[in-house]
Amino acid sequence: MPFKPVEHPKCPKCSKSVYAAEEMLAAGQKWHKTCFKCGLCHKSLDSTNATEHGGELYCKQCYGRKFGPKGYGFGQGAGTLSMDTGAHLGNTETQMSNKPTDPNYG
Ligand SMILES: [Zn+2]
Ligand SMILES: [Zn+2]
Repeated sequence: MPFKPVEHPKCPKCSKSVYAAEEMLAAGQKWHKTCFKCGLCHKSLDSTNATEHGGELYCKQCYGRKFGPKGYGFGQGAGTLSMDTGAHLGNTETQMSNKPTDPNYG
């Protein structure tokens, strides 16, 4: 078993180590108290009113304004990554079809 130095979790906001004395928890990540602010109105947050979106924290008011009210239909839940190729519109991707095969690859 390799020796592993103690690693402090990195604050998603400023990418610096977060120590226990200053950590705030949101979205399964640890943030500095000083970084635990709404990205829009810069109001200080706590774990009860902070909402994380794309590595940024928002208060509930700003989140609602920016991303719409909950229960709107789209974009609910975490990790919904939409890759719309437009295939349903009749678009077809043909860029891959003329790629030469390299016998030395692999
Ligand atoms: Zn930070
Ligand atoms: Zn706000």
